[in-house]
Amino acid sequence: MKFETLCLHADNNKKDEWGTLTTPICQSATFVHKGVGVSSEYSYSRLSNPTRAHLENVVAALEGGVAALAFSSGMAAISTVMKLFKAPAHIIASDDMYGGSLRLFRNVNAADGYAFDFVDTGDIEKVKSLIRKETVAIYCETPSNPLMQVSDIAALSKIAKENGLLLIVDNTFLTPYYQRPLALGADIVVHSGTKYLGGHNDTLAGFAVTGNKELAERLLYLYKTFGACLAPMDCFLIERGIKTLPLRMDRISANAAEIAKWLRGRKEVKKVYYAGFADHAGYEVSKKQATGFGGMISFEAESRALAENILKKVKVFQYAESLGGVESLITYPMLQTHADVPEKERNARGITDAFLRISVGIENIQDLIDDLKQAFEL
Ligand SMILES: *Cc1c(COP(=O)(O)O)cnc(C)c1O
Repeated sequence: MKFETLCLHADNNKKDEWGTLTTPICQSATFVHKGVGVSSEYSYSRLSNPTRAHLENVVAALEGGVAALAFSSGMAAISTVMKLFKAPAHIIASDDMYGGSLRLFRNVNAADGYAFDFVDTGDIEKVKSLIRKETVAIYCETPSNPLMQVSDIAALSKIAKENGLLLIVDNTFLTPYYQRPLALGADIVVHSGTKYLGGHNDTLAGFAVTGNKELAERLLYLYKTFGACLAPMDCFLIERGIKTLPLRMDRISANAAEIAKWLRGRKEVKKVYYAGFADHAGYEVSKKQATGFGGMISFEAESRALAENILKKVKVFQYAESLGGVESLITYPMLQTHADVPEKERNARGITDAFLRISVGIENIQDLIDDLKQAFEL
């Protein structure tokens, strides 16, 4: 089956006795044993639940993995994956990534004795130069948040394999519709399913997917022990969202290409960060490893006053955190996603007080551009 079909029919074989077409919400914490020492496939919903199992099979199929685990949020997935390691583990991670992941690594994992080097994981030589005997993993987001840096997954996988490291890729921004890290050699893919997979800004979710059976077992052990599992109703919503993932991504990407071009043409915009520009440093790598550029754009306005003006005046775009849904959102990384990053470091990276990030939705493109146009007027 091709991807669009998998989104609907990846786990068709698990029909229940009623022949329900959509996956029923199996709202049961526990399951009755058939006899002494004989349990059905399910025993307790922290370990596994029929609704969740269905969703996990779909996500595993989309990412091309042997197993997927559905977590209560993206951060729950990432936190659990990080527990695969033990101090004094050393991890080489993207220097541009989701603020919550940075907070986890720096403030929680580091306190547990993990060491991190944060670099542009697009710079393969730099990554190579940092590997030492304690190094256990490379962790990357590509494209990264919010600067849209691109990393070559196959090249990172090669050096990970040569050095016995795990390569973990956060595939939230492009989704498996556009990019399949496991096929490019990654060991684990993580997701904030809250974003494009769910796609409707209505529920939180997270995933960890692997193509390696032994890793899958270790992750399942951590999963059932920590218990940050996704509830049946949320599994249903995410699965329903996935059915339209390809349609949404196509529309979102087409809209984003137009908006990026429009922003670049504005004299009040200093810089536009968008992976789909032919002159983007990672453009060739993107073309090689992904089939689309997605819906994320960041830009630096000429002043803080203009940035605040835009946030105040948008009507179609909603000034809100998060991304990946059908509604277009605009956010202020300085105050939201990157509020925990020290100011000096933020500014040095270009995430200034005039820097905004857009998650393009599926609205009519002219309405989106008209909205930006009026929001730019001081
Ligand atoms: C939102 C996000 C996360 C965290 O996911 P939650 O579902 O909010 O916990 C991780 N990585 C990326 C790239 C994200 O955008």
